[in-house]
Amino acid sequence: MPGPSRKAFLPSKGTQAVAWIAVLALLAAACTAHRPASPGGPGPVALASASAAGSGAAGSGAAGSHTGSSPTASPSHPASPSPGFTTAPSPLGSSPSVAPEPSNLPAIPPGAVPILYYHRVQAPPAAYESWSKTRKAAFIDYDVVPNAFAAQLDWLFDHGYTTILPRDLAAYWDRGVPLPARPVILTFDDGWHDWVGTVLPMLQARGMIAEFYVTLGAISDGNISWPEVQTLAAAGNGIGAHDVHHVQLAELGKGRPDASAATMWAEIVGARQAIGQHVGIYPDSMAYVGGGFSPALEALVQEAGYTTARAIRRGIVQGIALRYQLHVVRIGPYDDVSDVLTGTIDPNLPIFVARMHGVSDQRPSN
Ligand SMILES: [Zn+2]
Repeated sequence: MPGPSRKAFLPSKGTQAVAWIAVLALLAAACTAHRPASPGGPGPVALASASAAGSGAAGSGAAGSHTGSSPTASPSHPASPSPGFTTAPSPLGSSPSVAPEPSNLPAIPPGAVPILYYHRVQAPPAAYESWSKTRKAAFIDYDVVPNAFAAQLDWLFDHGYTTILPRDLAAYWDRGVPLPARPVILTFDDGWHDWVGTVLPMLQARGMIAEFYVTLGAISDGNISWPEVQTLAAAGNGIGAHDVHHVQLAELGKGRPDASAATMWAEIVGARQAIGQHVGIYPDSMAYVGGGFSPALEALVQEAGYTTARAIRRGIVQGIALRYQLHVVRIGPYDDVSDVLTGTIDPNLPIFVARMHGVSDQRPSN
């Protein structure tokens, strides 16, 4: 409870016993709604295209009971067993302060659920300075340095964001399970040892979770192992699918035809089956390789049992009609980093903050 209302009761508590009982009853009701400790901020966000969510304490009774059906690759919509955001460790629940919005940026629209899009978090190797410009550019385009990643996570924490998973978004749309006041989804593509060695401890230190979109090719190539993927899942993270062979299936451009329906099906079902069998939870979300999708691919993704799919079109607002075209905020490894080698960053994170306000793809010269 906020301090001021408690103080208001103190001088006359003898005559306000009934009011206190009412307050306690309200608190008990809030607890049974299975929300984390009351954030003190606004209630769950109301996405424009979803059914209305109630106020903070009006949680759906389904919040703690969505065990899901049997995870198979049947053409129906099996919901993977999911702990949901409500059971993730969330120190944010005791951190009600939300910083004011910067006045020089667009207001964050109602219903915004930013989905941040990363690949790998690692510091450049010692030999980085001797690399060719091309090789450096490849690193810069793909990797985020740990200092910047840590600062971004801290910014999210300090500004009242709660990490959720794509399945929580689907649960909100499909069953009205409320979202936290400021939801954000962290996603990682492809598959790297760094996810366990670097990213996981940084997330856990802040009570955060992420969706890791694994391509089976990363496992066969030795970039990540099944035990590592299992470790991520056991820590409450989501494991999404990102193809078997990391092939772009649609939107290839230059007049090239999309993959055949058979190839699409083999990639999206093959990845889902293998992950489900190794992890014990069948993926409910996938990320399109290269971001490419088509109506035919979306239909197959839905038929395969996924409840969301992430594209790479920019935006911070999601919608149920675009659940197989989730928008992203691309985090540039160059964002706010003045020196990649030393990991020197602008502590105010102006570019990251602008991205979180929907201002996309500001690319400085370095
Ligand atoms: Zn990829």
